[in-house]
Amino acid sequence: MSLETVKQRMEYLRMQYAPGHLSELLNDATKHKVSHLDFFDNILKLEIEHREESRIHTSLKVSSLPKGMHLDNFDYMFQPAVEKTRIDYLAGCDFIRAKENILFFGPPGVGKTHLAVGLGVRATELGYSVIYYTVEELLQQLKRRADIPVSKQRRQSYVKNALVVLDELGYQVLDRQETHLFFQFISARYVKGSLIVTSNRSVKDWVQIFAGDEMATTAILDRLFHKSHLFNIDGRSYRLKDFDQMLNKEKRQERDE
Ligand code: ADP
Ligand code: MG
Repeated sequence: MSLETVKQRMEYLRMQYAPGHLSELLNDATKHKVSHLDFFDNILKLEIEHREESRIHTSLKVSSLPKGMHLDNFDYMFQPAVEKTRIDYLAGCDFIRAKENILFFGPPGVGKTHLAVGLGVRATELGYSVIYYTVEELLQQLKRRADIPVSKQRRQSYVKNALVVLDELGYQVLDRQETHLFFQFISARYVKGSLIVTSNRSVKDWVQIFAGDEMATTAILDRLFHKSHLFNIDGRSYRLKDFDQMLNKEKRQERDE
């Protein structure tokens, strides 16, 4: 039996990792006197790991989640308003199975996007379909299909994904048409799929985001808050962390003088 034949058989089975590493794995197995069973198991394990990695890589690309924000590089010491145990619990993604929402409120720079994206990345790793939009990007998508009935939009990313991460609600004031489209979007996902929303405006100001329309605002809030996990992050801005330190140092120096 030649090595080439085995490689061809592996390729026929669409194995992605093993064919290219076969001789190296064989040498290693001989050197360490690995049993047949362990050798075979090792090949399967490596192949599975490789597939998992490329699946996650592709899903992350498709999701448009911004890079570099993970749950394990979030500094909980800096932001005591966020309880790590709550985030860890949500990272298990039960909230997606239960079609619940997560809402992050707080001023700029406190880590709302970081946590929302971090949870999105975790959901991707666990095999859920995820899509990230800023409110502006979502509105562009919705406007493109404004004339199509909602029932015919089921195959669109903003409806079909298990989790939609919607970032930056409040930076932009919506007009009446946008508010209507937004309401339709929230309704389409209501109890059908999960949402993570970040907002720099507190709920009492939301009516100003939604064209001053109190009815639409209440309807949106009703659906979003039903079965939701709420975070109010009222801490300091991480972006201004170094600036804060500089100011404090200057203050200390002034005091000491
Ligand atoms: P927000 O969305 O609340 O305005 P971001 O999540 O975008 O804030 O945070 C601003 C920047 O600071 C990002 O680069 C983010 O990764 C980083 N950041 C914020 N909070 C933390 C934290 N507690 N630990 C680590 N990085 C953080
Ligand atoms: Mg943000």
